[in-house]
Amino acid sequence: MTIGVDDDESAFSPLENNKGLAESWLRICGRLKGEVGEVEYRTWLTQIALGPIDGDEITLLLPTRFLRDWVRSQYGDRLSELWHSEIPSLRRVELQVARPGDPAPLQVADVAPASVTAAPATEDSTAGTKPVPEVRSDLVTALDSRFTFETFVVGKPNEFAYACARRVAEKPSSVGFNPLFLYGGVGLGKTHLMHAIGAELVRSGNVSVAYMSAEKFMYRFIAAIRSQSTIEFKEQLRSVDVLMIDDLQFLIGKDNTQEEFFHTFNALVDAGRQIVVSADKSPSDLSGLEDRLRTRLGCGMVADIHATTFELRISILEAKATASGVVVPGKVLEFLAHKITSNVRELEGALNRLIAHANLFGRPVTLEATQDVLHDILKAHDRRVTIEEIQKKVAEHWNIRLTDMSSARRARNVARPRQVAMYLAKQLTSRSLPEIGRKFGNRDHTTVMHAVQRVTELMERDAAFAEDVELMRRMLES
Ligand code: ADP
Ligand code: MG
Repeated sequence: MTIGVDDDESAFSPLENNKGLAESWLRICGRLKGEVGEVEYRTWLTQIALGPIDGDEITLLLPTRFLRDWVRSQYGDRLSELWHSEIPSLRRVELQVARPGDPAPLQVADVAPASVTAAPATEDSTAGTKPVPEVRSDLVTALDSRFTFETFVVGKPNEFAYACARRVAEKPSSVGFNPLFLYGGVGLGKTHLMHAIGAELVRSGNVSVAYMSAEKFMYRFIAAIRSQSTIEFKEQLRSVDVLMIDDLQFLIGKDNTQEEFFHTFNALVDAGRQIVVSADKSPSDLSGLEDRLRTRLGCGMVADIHATTFELRISILEAKATASGVVVPGKVLEFLAHKITSNVRELEGALNRLIAHANLFGRPVTLEATQDVLHDILKAHDRRVTIEEIQKKVAEHWNIRLTDMSSARRARNVARPRQVAMYLAKQLTSRSLPEIGRKFGNRDHTTVMHAVQRVTELMERDAAFAEDVELMRRMLES
């Protein structure tokens, strides 16, 4: 193998003319990808560009100082070893921040797969010889390696969405699951599930996945119009196996972008590719989206993620506390799960702050410390729904008299809303069962318990009823 060595940096020959070097780099990438996993590889290592080679030293370029430092600390030694094994005369890898005009990162697709297959046998033959799946780094927002199926805590409110996501990750483009439309309030795990699908697909093989927010989709589209490269943009989009667009509600009112998305959508589905979309509302509630788009969005699998329950919040907190290695007493977890009911993101934020505090000061987490450290967060959540408000809203919604919330009447049309109100009181306030019972005409706590169970069961069986109750909850919470 001959390598163009030149003392003058500016005379460094571009990659196309330096096929041997590019092939070496490609093999190194293949091995690294095998070693660190696709997500990490994609997050950090696809950003590296090849710089000049000078004697026993090769320079690699990174777009920012942060990335350079990170790659140096995490992968520096390994990169040196791998280069040395490719080109024994190389002993050092120099990492630098790229300057304008420096070579761009190598697109894995730039080098013909044949040159990859012809790689010399290495001890890790799979990583060295397998053609590297095409990485559409131009289309991909790096997947967040924390968001996997393993780190997603499953409970009643999200089990359906989770099962659908898993199914799509296992068998993309199955009949009935394309598109997969995930919806739910903010901070409930939509993005997490989409990244998990992406990570799983990428891990399992030769699938090209593009994930981006609807906002990014729009900016890319506009940029393509400006640079008169809409055809390339469309072709790129239409060449992926799986397209995931997050927060589709962003396209409301953006008619041109909607139009483009609609065509891309149709082209991909017709070609048997998988689409995954998330939004804050169901397709039918996304008023402002074109009708034909809403219709198409709704014709695969629509899965909603409900607001968290106390049980799910506890499970999530337990999982995250365990992962952090900090001991958080059950009392504190319960306290948080009672106080922070809005969404998982805020719950996680609160727990992270507690953990950081405990690590920093080396003090155990206690209830007092929690109240102190989270003072501001807890105060913001103190505007809590009262049982009276719940009774009033529920009575209005189901058209019964407020006094029937505490009356002894047992007719179904009165008893059912009363049960819903009890259920919501349990979900949305921190009152105990006996306290709730008292507010509903001095009923026993077992009556409240029964109501909670009954409503939970009904919600599972009756989607329309579940939607009604969810709606009530959202109205009360906002
Ligand atoms: P959304 O996209 O619905 O607004 P995200 O997916 O960004 O919400 O979730 C917000 C945060 O909460 C993320 O850090 C995510 O990892 C976490 N999260 C949400 N749901 C769960 C869950 N069921 N298990 C573990 N973490 C979760
Ligand atoms: Mg999101």
